[in-house]
Amino acid sequence: MNTLHPADRDRLSTYISNTFDRAQNFIGYPIAQDFDYAPLYPLLKLPLNNIGDPLLPSTYDLSSREMEKEVLTFFADIFRAPEDNWWGYINNGGSEGNLYALYAARELYANGVVYYSDATHYSVQKNIKLLNMESIQIRTQAHGEIDYDDLRKMIDFNRHKPVVMVANIGTTMTEAKDDISLFRQIMQELRIDNYYIHCDAALAGVYSMLLELKPGFDFTYGADSISISGHKFIGSPLPCGIVLIKKNHKDRIGRQVAYIGTIDTTISGSRNGHTPVFLWYAIKCMGSDGFRDRAIACLANAEYAVKRFQEIGIQAWRNNHAITVVFPALKHAALLEKWQIATGGGVSHIICMPGVHKEKIDEFVADILTLEANTLLEAELVP
Ligand SMILES: *Cc1c(COP(=O)(O)O)cnc(C)c1O
Repeated sequence: MNTLHPADRDRLSTYISNTFDRAQNFIGYPIAQDFDYAPLYPLLKLPLNNIGDPLLPSTYDLSSREMEKEVLTFFADIFRAPEDNWWGYINNGGSEGNLYALYAARELYANGVVYYSDATHYSVQKNIKLLNMESIQIRTQAHGEIDYDDLRKMIDFNRHKPVVMVANIGTTMTEAKDDISLFRQIMQELRIDNYYIHCDAALAGVYSMLLELKPGFDFTYGADSISISGHKFIGSPLPCGIVLIKKNHKDRIGRQVAYIGTIDTTISGSRNGHTPVFLWYAIKCMGSDGFRDRAIACLANAEYAVKRFQEIGIQAWRNNHAITVVFPALKHAALLEKWQIATGGGVSHIICMPGVHKEKIDEFVADILTLEANTLLEAELVP
């Protein structure tokens, strides 16, 4: 490669320093930032590609397939997947995991109806559209968990069709969790046998399992597939995620492709070969115990944030065992922009992911106070 033109070099170094600045005020999205993958940097010289099925060999061997398999096994274990009946792959994130799961559900139940709450991540609606599936949106309770009465009523109306349930294990805005045991109870009461449960655990899946939070949602509770994001709680410089599914559910998906010398069982063709190594490295460095300790620290920070907000008169709250701190939408545009705070349905939130520690929270609170003081001052100046 040629070297950069000096103007482009300047452009790049400005971009890099601005981006490091922006990373200092990043508390509005659920992304861990406390990772250090420096020992893996030599791999950035290689075009790793895990194309095709991760559990089968491929002619394309410049890959991290073996490590991907170890990562998948680690999560299959955490989510208590049936020992000889699971499959999965590392993908681009929770959205692709949801797409894969709905695809598998549709191959099982061509005329299935997807039920999901109105607090569900936007990828689910998009995926339903892509797959051309029938779907019904269900109301939520005030804190973001699905309304089981509404769910039951809607399923009852459509009881002649198979049910595909998307359960949230941590909704995007309030980190509310749906209870799949209650869902299964509804199936039993309505005598519906053909149903499929997908748990969208993108945000809270890993720590919910490690801290054994209730309600349970793993395979032993009846999940048919589970998806998580790798770049959220665990942390990765490149977006990634994991989807796991009961193996017998995906037997209809995949086709032998001579060109890659393996079976094409995933959604994308070429797949990131670096992200499995990042996840492998995180698992080996921290392990379940390390992840658990991180989660406990995050929960303590979330509790601290709620307290600090309340001290300055902001009605903040959080769901049980949630690291997402919710508060009425803030109006100061400069503050929202500086701290990259998402707003929806009249609320904003910060997410106490690893890397968002007490000092950050204090800084944010101080900014709110300063801005409010300025606003008051301006109000006083207006004649
Ligand atoms: C973040 C998130 C997703 C999407 O995950 P990506 O990794 O961004 O694709 C899906 N569902 C929930 C609940 C999420 O929080």
